[in-house]
Amino acid sequence: MSKVAHYLQEHLNGEVMFSPAIRKYFSTDGSVFEVTPSIVVYPRDEDDVRKTARFTWQLAERGRVIPITARGMGTCQGGSAIGSGIMMVFPAHMKRILEFDHKTGNVVIEPGINYGTLQQALHMHKRFLPPFPSSIDYSSVGGAIANNASGEKTFKYGNTRNFVKNLRVVLANGEVIETKRLSKRELSKKMGLTTFEGEIYRALDALVEDNKEAIKGMQLDVSKNSAGYDLMDIKRKDGSFDLTPLFVGSQGTLGIVTEATLATAVYNPNTTLIAAFFEDLHVAEHAIEEIKKLPDGPSAMELVDDNLLKFIDEHHPNQLKGIVEKPFHKLIVLIEFDDANDRTQKKMSKRTLKILKKLEVPFQIETEEYEKEQLWKIRHSAAAVVSHSEGKMKALPIIEDGIVPSDKFNKYITNVYKMFEKYNLKVALWGHAGNANIHMQPFLDLSQVGDRQKVFKILEEYYTMVIGLGGSTSGEHNDGRLRSPFLKRLYGEDIYSVFEKVKLIFDPHGTMNPGVKIDVTIDDIKPLLRHEYGMEHLGHHLPRS
Ligand SMILES: Cc1cc2nc3c(=O)[nH]c(=O)nc-3n(C[C@H](O)[C@H](O)[C@H](O)COP(=O)(O)OP(=O)(O)OC[C@H]3O[C@@H](n4cnc5c(N)ncnc54)[C@H](O)[C@@H]3O)c2cc1C
Repeated sequence: MSKVAHYLQEHLNGEVMFSPAIRKYFSTDGSVFEVTPSIVVYPRDEDDVRKTARFTWQLAERGRVIPITARGMGTCQGGSAIGSGIMMVFPAHMKRILEFDHKTGNVVIEPGINYGTLQQALHMHKRFLPPFPSSIDYSSVGGAIANNASGEKTFKYGNTRNFVKNLRVVLANGEVIETKRLSKRELSKKMGLTTFEGEIYRALDALVEDNKEAIKGMQLDVSKNSAGYDLMDIKRKDGSFDLTPLFVGSQGTLGIVTEATLATAVYNPNTTLIAAFFEDLHVAEHAIEEIKKLPDGPSAMELVDDNLLKFIDEHHPNQLKGIVEKPFHKLIVLIEFDDANDRTQKKMSKRTLKILKKLEVPFQIETEEYEKEQLWKIRHSAAAVVSHSEGKMKALPIIEDGIVPSDKFNKYITNVYKMFEKYNLKVALWGHAGNANIHMQPFLDLSQVGDRQKVFKILEEYYTMVIGLGGSTSGEHNDGRLRSPFLKRLYGEDIYSVFEKVKLIFDPHGTMNPGVKIDVTIDDIKPLLRHEYGMEHLGHHLPRS
């Protein structure tokens, strides 16, 4: 491998490293898996990415496959930001805001930019990028694009895919393309190209045409979905064609993003926040459904359960002192309105209170900054569970992102409680009530054989349950190594075989982040399970610019 590393060192502007310490460092991400890369590259510019891809393509043509895994900040909880070949780490150098258009609010960025940094810059222009994940402070925008990330504001604004307008992408053979929605005529032109890009447009257009009906049927009855490849918005009825929605959420398995143009929304910090305190899951489900029907609905509907509050009370007794009192309610739902029109905001808040009063649900309503911040601490206290450890017992991200149809919300939560009881595990729930997308991380010790076996039993039982309810295995965190084995079951054989063909069109030699999305079985991922989980180190290991 050092020959490859030396070649890259000679030809790239960015650093190329392969010391055992660096390789070990990048062998883990936010997931429970471990795969050690051979080489770590910190690309300085698109040319570095292009040359690396070109080089691995040429090697693959001669029968030697060296995978490339793009990496942002490595917070992915599904295990998509690890790989055995070349790890290409973007946040070191390719992290600039290249352009901001005041008129449209569009922003052009390099993928390695920290999400929080971009958000702060946008706030200065009274704009924001709404689908930010709760890992906003320590994750990259490139990672969010590749994961189709979303977060607390997704209920109103949608997921990352809704905000990506154009991409610059380095293809597996090193060619650079720009994606945008093409008219019929523009598509014909692309299809006439004799390049790899032309080949891709021709093959993909034929594939989409041949599988029109199957693709129509792949829509799940959920409000957001990051599982698989999004085939539904490539070709529209009017014949227009766009690779952008396909690349978003593809986890670096089809190409590597070097630049993105993103839409943004108007930022209004003058919100109204209502905390609703529920004792009964049925009542909560009913209230959420009613509030969702409001014409100018909430910008967020977030929940925590009493188990989370008890956990905080036990381990961090001061954290929510004076904010929530004991005995804890079964469920707290935070409902936020951010409409720019003050009157609309007031009207919708009033109607929400009417719904809650009718159901005899206690509530608290706040419009002052400090009070709202205090209430948001309830939801954000989930971070304490994620980072908690008791000896080697850690909160493991293995079933942390299921989403179900909203009318199955109550059933979903009830099933989760039963499952945790069956395995005698501590449970705490938090997440996106408006989307019926709940997060939870069971405490297990990966150094114990029994707990390692439990991981796979829980995976099987949980994902079977979510699929059985008509949900998706991933609302926002995407597949990674963790959930890829369930994709065939989620979408069925026909759509899965279209996924396989898509992968083959873009990545015929299997150099683009293999081991993620396609051809992954539970037996493939079992040997990758770490013996100790932790993510304290994430984000620190970057060379100086
Ligand atoms: C505590 C915690 C909370 C989280 N909360 C949320 C949440 O609320 N919502 C949510 O959606 N996710 C959440 N996540 C998951 C994760 O943080 C996000 O999805 C985040 O957007 C990933 O960004 P990253 O920079 O860490 O990407 P990475 O983990 O580095 O990479 C993620 C994927 O993107 C690919 N990738 C990175 N850069 C590129 C590129 N330039 N071109 C092509 N592919 C690329 C990688 O190959 C990988 O497949 C959470 C994770 C943690 C640990």
